[in-house]
Amino acid sequence: MTYRNFSLEQLQAMDAAHHLHPFTDHKDLRAAGSRMIVSADGPYIHDSEGHAILDGMAGLWCVNVGYGRDELAQAAFEQMKELPYYNSFFRCTTPTPVLLAEKLAELAPKNVNQVFYGSSGSESNDTALRLVRHFWALEGKPEKQIIISRQWAYHGSTVAGASLGGMSAMHGQLGAPVPGIVHVMPPYGFELRQAGESEHDFGLRAARAVEEAILEHGADKVAAFIGEPVMGAGGVKIAPDSYWPEIQRICRKHDILLMLDEVITGYGRTGNWFAAQTYGLEPDTITTAKALTSGYQPLSALLVGDRIAKSLVDKGGEFFHGYTYSGHPVACAVALKNLEIIEREGLIERVRDDTGPYFAEQLAQRVAPHAIVGETRSAGLMGAIEIVRDKQTRERFPGGGVAAVCIRDHAIANGLMLRAVGDTMILSPPLIWTRETIDLAIDRILKALDLAA
Ligand code: PLP
Repeated sequence: MTYRNFSLEQLQAMDAAHHLHPFTDHKDLRAAGSRMIVSADGPYIHDSEGHAILDGMAGLWCVNVGYGRDELAQAAFEQMKELPYYNSFFRCTTPTPVLLAEKLAELAPKNVNQVFYGSSGSESNDTALRLVRHFWALEGKPEKQIIISRQWAYHGSTVAGASLGGMSAMHGQLGAPVPGIVHVMPPYGFELRQAGESEHDFGLRAARAVEEAILEHGADKVAAFIGEPVMGAGGVKIAPDSYWPEIQRICRKHDILLMLDEVITGYGRTGNWFAAQTYGLEPDTITTAKALTSGYQPLSALLVGDRIAKSLVDKGGEFFHGYTYSGHPVACAVALKNLEIIEREGLIERVRDDTGPYFAEQLAQRVAPHAIVGETRSAGLMGAIEIVRDKQTRERFPGGGVAAVCIRDHAIANGLMLRAVGDTMILSPPLIWTRETIDLAIDRILKALDLAA
């Protein structure tokens, strides 16, 4: 198959010669060659060899409305013709970021009414880090600087994002991480729950690891706790029900800001606009990106709670921070149209009332009993499958994740894109998936598990 007069071999050769990929071992890539995705439609991506692959990852957790939406292309086209770019610096702005900010304030939890834009989740977490530290300085408590995060958290790949995140491999290559960030245990019951400990008690223990860190460093030194409501890139780790209420209580008790990273969970994935609503939380910041435009344009929005916003306005003084593309008019026009589609098609209600529960049930009934599956779990339309060699003891296969990679490759060959994180298979499909699409995906997962077992 050719793509605009280039053969796959030619494209792969140019890719190998000139293109460095994110999170990639380039020696491996050169040996294998890249899979070339050339088009997409609805829930399917198409590669250069003509295979239609069901996209179980919504791109990279972002294409919530699915592919091939003419309305989004049209919104971008019209905005580009009218005003392709102007910034929001120096007491200027343009209409679409304003309209989008108003819409986001309507959708967000009631104490969250302001928006600071960037182009990616990582940038937005940089903004969040600087903003919470600036807030405490404005409040006359500049020594409140420490951010508490969690091992396995993913908060992006900029220096601040990687420092906030809890991926040891990323820290290893970082040189000098941003100072003042500490990491505590995550609420990952499958590996960390002790024998005889209930889910409830484990959730409380994991939350209290945050309180212990606050007490160790002193509440007068701690600015905030940051967490993904469901840990995504770290392996769709879902906290027990007892965890988040306890985190909220601890933050309030010690006057620590609550920062949620909803780069994945934002815009419907857990069955509400934001997971803050799913878990009944009142965050001070919500980092969002990805599904804000369903990935059709790069755009992030840090949603800022009233307490911080009030301080910025009342105390005044410049916040020395921002990006050329903060509030990009085309990206914001696409976001507005994307949110309109999500609302009009009732995609969030569908996840909450129909496909989310059905996905959980199918994982539990059809996948969990498989001989090499230790656990399945899901929240809305994000799910995980733990791969084990021994179901009873939960012993893993040797080779640190090799089995999961093998299952992933079988699944892709069978027409389903999903990811392997360590020994965990993860899924995060577009919100347009129906019960029939879920059935098809589960058939393909089972086939891949059988081939690997
Ligand atoms: N935060 C979370 C929870 C993410 O999952 C990601 C990306 O996957 C990011 C931040 C970083 O976003 P970006 O890749 O757009 O910089």
